This record gives sequence, C-alpha cells and structure tokens, in this order.
Amino acid sequence: MPRRIGICRALHAYHHYALWHTFFAELGWDVVLSSPTGRNTVEQGVRLAPSELCLPVKAFLGHVAEIKDRVDALLLPRVVCTRIARDWFFGCPKAIALPDLTRAVFDALPVIVEPILDGQLKTDEESYRNAVKNMGSTAGARRAYKRASAAAGRSALRTRREGSPLHMFGYTAADPTLPDAGLRVGVVGHPYLLFDSGLSLGVLDKVRQSGARPVLFFPTAAEVEREARLETALNWYYELELLAAARRLLETGKIDGLLLVASFACGTGAVTNELIHRSAVHTHHIPTIQVLLDEHTGEAGLHTRIESFVDLLRLRKR
Ligand code: SF4
Repeated sequence: MPRRIGICRALHAYHHYALWHTFFAELGWDVVLSSPTGRNTVEQGVRLAPSELCLPVKAFLGHVAEIKDRVDALLLPRVVCTRIARDWFFGCPKAIALPDLTRAVFDALPVIVEPILDGQLKTDEESYRNAVKNMGSTAGARRAYKRASAAAGRSALRTRREGSPLHMFGYTAADPTLPDAGLRVGVVGHPYLLFDSGLSLGVLDKVRQSGARPVLFFPTAAEVEREARLETALNWYYELELLAAARRLLETGKIDGLLLVASFACGTGAVTNELIHRSAVHTHHIPTIQVLLDEHTGEAGLHTRIESFVDLLRLRKR
C-alpha cells in the first residue's frame, strides 16, 4: 500500500488542504506537500501546459512535476459540482479536467488518488472513501472523513478570522494593523492566486507597500447561499464566493477602492469581474482596478500600477 501521498500546493489546496491533510493522516499516510511556487514551478508548468490554459493550472502542472517522483501516490481531485440551496453549481471546466490534463501531460505518474466530487452522483464522504478503496485504505475511512470534515470547518473559521488561508500551510497571517494610512483597498480574487505569492507576485504586499491596507473577505456558507439564490446567479460555485465577497466589501462602504485580481485566460473570472466592476463603479461609485496575471507579468509594472491606483485613491480622499 502506498505510504506517501503528494498534494500540490495549488488550486483547490487553498480551500481544502485542511480536510485532505487530516483525512490522509488519519488513514496513516504521510502527507507530502509540494514546495511553495517559485519561478521554476511556473516555468516548468508553462513548458508542459497548452498555452491557452490559465496561470494557476499551468502552475499546478509545475507542482506535479516537482512532487511526483517523491511520493507513492498523488491526490488529483476532480471537483465537479455541489448543491447550494436548490441548484447545482459547478467547478470551472479547466479545474474539472485537471486529472485528465495531468495524465495527458506526464508519461509517468505515481498511483493517482482521484476523488470525484460530484454531488449529483455521491456525497463527498463516499467520493473520498471510494478514492482510497483501491489502495486498501478503507478501514477507518469513515472516521477519518468525519475528523477531516471537522478540521475543515475549524480551518474555514480561522481563514475568515485571519483573512487568509495560509495558516493551512503553517504561515501566520500578515499583521492586519499595518500599515494604517487610512486607505483601504478591497481585494477580490481566487485564494489560490491571491495568496500564492509566486503567482500573484506578492500583490497584497504591493498594496501595503503603496501605503494602503488590503481588505479581504471570506464569505460564510449562508452568504454564498444568498448569492446562489439570486435569479442572476452564476453557475460556478467558486465565483459565487467572489461575488459574495465583493458584495460585502462594497456594501459595507468601508473601502476606498477595489482591486480585482484574476488570471489571464480565466473564462469564469472574466464574467465575474465584469459583474463586480459594474456594480462597484456604477452602483457604489468605488474606483476599481483589474489586474490580469500571467507568466509574462512583470513585478515592476505591477508595482507601478498598484502604486498609481493607491495614489489616485489618496488624491480622491483629500
Ligand atoms: S477559475 Fe479561472 S483561474 Fe481558476 S482554474 Fe478555472 S480558469 Fe483557471
């Protein structure tokens, strides 16, 4: 039976690592997390991936390349759909196809553990139990999932409290009291992009260095459900989280500007950000900037854009 399971520090790990780590550790596996995203990770992923893919998926392949020869098995979840209120909401197509893409790109891979998270077919618990069944890990899987689920709940609370999911990887949150120049910039983007400084080029730090405080919001399940109940709700559930976060930031009226961060070639993000942008500018009259990241984005250019935006907010506030 495989003993070391590899988990890529990318994409869904920024939501589910606490659950995954607890589940496999409870089953007696050694959990190996890939290294933080570096220039090499991105370059490797870019070499392997078809060019039309988004930056986070390219980086995911870079993480697979980095970890695959160090483990006996690799976790490749297929995140398909989940029920919220009365409807089904889907993962983005690129994320759903992640296991197929990975198998197509690499000639040799360790054993793949592929939970198919499709609420229309099975509960999440059944999906995880099925995924480990063939590896002889069923004994205790029910109890392991129960503990993992509890750990995921605690982790979500901590993420909301700290405004960051990085505690899952052992980091402490940046000091939220610094800097306080009176300027607050709401930031909306997928956690796997915003909080992976190898991909986002440290965009949150750049807001701080420009003299403003980045303000993030992680919605509760009830807030996401409210978004899902709207007639105009989008069908992708990670996007519901972004819409709920933006709504909260805009409606509290406690931000001076809004920064939308997305990946170039992200189809779902293009729709979400356009909706948020319209609401921010036309309804709430909040200045908004959108940053699209890809492997060609330069750090100096990004810094200049953020700095100019914060300068503009400062002038507007005088
Ligand atoms: S939602 Fe966008 S950024 Fe995320 S995996 Fe899908 S295409 Fe890539």
